[in-house]
Amino acid sequence: MRIFDPHIHMTSRTTDDYEAMYAAGVRAVVEPAFWLGQPRTSPASFFDYFDALLGWEPFRAAQYGIAHHCTIALNPKEANDPRCTPVLDELPRYLVKDGVVAVGEIGYDSMTPAEDHALAVQLQLAAEHGLPAMVHTPHRDKLTGLRRTIDVVRESALATDRVLLDHLNETTVREAKDSGAWLGFSVYPDTKMDEDRMVAILDEYGPEKVLVNSAADWGKSDPLKTRKVADAMLKAGFDEDAVDLVLWRNPVAFYGLSGRLDLDPSTPEALHEGNSILRGGE
Ligand SMILES: [Zn+2]
Repeated sequence: MRIFDPHIHMTSRTTDDYEAMYAAGVRAVVEPAFWLGQPRTSPASFFDYFDALLGWEPFRAAQYGIAHHCTIALNPKEANDPRCTPVLDELPRYLVKDGVVAVGEIGYDSMTPAEDHALAVQLQLAAEHGLPAMVHTPHRDKLTGLRRTIDVVRESALATDRVLLDHLNETTVREAKDSGAWLGFSVYPDTKMDEDRMVAILDEYGPEKVLVNSAADWGKSDPLKTRKVADAMLKAGFDEDAVDLVLWRNPVAFYGLSGRLDLDPSTPEALHEGNSILRGGE
């Protein structure tokens, strides 16, 4: 089984996770730029983070046989912090880089005017750079947030079929599907979707344009949720082709819209900017 986790924050995860993910079949990941938990106080913090998503983290993933790409953006939460918003002006120089396969994650957190502005600006940047957009939908007030997100996407220069609406659930899947966007589901240990609810949604709405992710980060989360959904699908009677569609071909098709997906993690470099991953200079 080959698995592509289209949304996982490996910066917050350990090498044990990489090993377990590889053993479970994960061969490719996309790491969206996000909030680190600790608020950033200046655009410079974003630049070092973006550079890590483009350099250090793919280097680390390659040691474990996993192809790593990223999406770059000002995240919805920090779009509200005037110390952070100047990063919007600097995004174009990152969006031209090879490892960047979408603008993201963008979208709404609390649905403020500052978030409206950041979302509209970044959808425009995606259109200008020929990139798809990975859009986080809010965890609170989900249906209102989804509708407002779809409205802003429709008003933007980016076609809806180049947008992934993520963190969907039973309350938002119907309208998201009707919009023509790609459909993302984050499967967490306690909240949001679980494996069985995910399978029920796949039963009802079909596997087309559906992407399943672990969204594993610095909070309680499980980087093997993609594999657990695949197993639950098989147990519920989906065939291997449907599993491959959801867990591999759909994320490849969506992020492939960038023209930049390179799924061969190749031979890992021995050094990244002079650093070996091995302690003690072995
Ligand atoms: Zn995320």
